Amino acid sequence: MKRIYLDHAATTPVDPEVLEAMLPYYVESFGNPSSIHSFGRETRKALDQARATVAKEIGAAEPSEIIFTGSGSESDNMAIKGVALSYREKGDHIITSAIEHHAVFDTCKFLEKQGFKVTYLPVNGEGLVNPADLKQALTDKTILVTIMHANNEVGTIQPIAEIAKILKERKILFHTDAVQTTGSIPVDVHELGVDLLSLAAHKFYGPKGVGVLYARKGIRLTPVIHGGAQERNRRAGTENIAGIVGLAKALELANQKLPETSKSLTELRDYLIDNVLQKFEYVRLNGHRTRRLPGNANFSFEFIEGESLLLNLDLKGIAASSGSACTSGSLEPSHVLLGMGICHEIAHGSLRLTLGKSTTKEEIDYVLEVLPEIVNKLRAMSPLYNNPQRKECASCTLTK
Ligand SMILES: *Cc1c(COP(=O)(O)O)cnc(C)c1O
Repeated sequence: MKRIYLDHAATTPVDPEVLEAMLPYYVESFGNPSSIHSFGRETRKALDQARATVAKEIGAAEPSEIIFTGSGSESDNMAIKGVALSYREKGDHIITSAIEHHAVFDTCKFLEKQGFKVTYLPVNGEGLVNPADLKQALTDKTILVTIMHANNEVGTIQPIAEIAKILKERKILFHTDAVQTTGSIPVDVHELGVDLLSLAAHKFYGPKGVGVLYARKGIRLTPVIHGGAQERNRRAGTENIAGIVGLAKALELANQKLPETSKSLTELRDYLIDNVLQKFEYVRLNGHRTRRLPGNANFSFEFIEGESLLLNLDLKGIAASSGSACTSGSLEPSHVLLGMGICHEIAHGSLRLTLGKSTTKEEIDYVLEVLPEIVNKLRAMSPLYNNPQRKECASCTLTK
């Protein structure tokens, strides 16, 4: 059976050109970049080049502002814990949003247990943070604000530059999780005005297990991983050279093709969204209609369990998700949808389809063909749907 992959927000395949750039660093050029000899110098050079490339691609002032990590999650942990521990004398207050990825959310929860105070800013029904709420939440003890560039479940893009302006005036550090946006929409640390930024290669056709934390020069960061002097004493461990080379190559390629890919993905996404909203009753689009990631479509189907929907789609060869890959398997509905004010029943019926550069119109047409069969079949089994008095959920009347 033909398989259709519509879960690009969870991960992407490695681009063959990226793999080609990586391969020499497994067998031929395997030296430890910390070694003095020629083997070490060879990989040191590759490491320096990759760092310079990443700095250039995200608009960093200096390569030394690029820290290679083991994942997007690690970058988020390092930014938040690193700043919290380094600036503790200055203050103990952190501000974040209610819909962050667990790598940020759970790190904030952990710091609360260590005595820090955390404010979780609300979002509106479309998943947007209001900069006025942020202004109100600031205190003279606020040391860090961490708000994601775009949400991984519903795709809403936050007003990062606007928030940055508020924080710059008050000299409060600003971190953004740009794991979903890098390679997908323009990401430039100066245009965004952020001090720290996380990204991960496997979300833009690079390898898994390698990420970057951008940290503006002069920012103190207590390491999360202690040991060797790698990454200027900020992250110990022999560097993942092949992965780092792959990350730099993937970022270069993604940015080169970004305008083109973003345009075609947006068109295909809108085609999918328009058709789904037209074809079904009791369905909503989660997230903002236009201010969203080019490849993201997220729907809630009333009177249906998201998990059954996913299993049925999988039987038809379609790989989708009900939210983030990290929370599937748990019965709790997504904190993102709940945070947006969507009620439990509807949050349970959510379906995330995330398109990638290989997605075709034929694939989307196939989804549009099989989805009604599945939705009708599941609704036919639903006692709620068959109740003659069934009503559309009144508390969350979202985009329709
Ligand atoms: C995928 C993702 C992460 C985690 O990145 P990993 O490399 O999988 O650890 C963090 N934040 C967002 C928004 C993501 O989409």
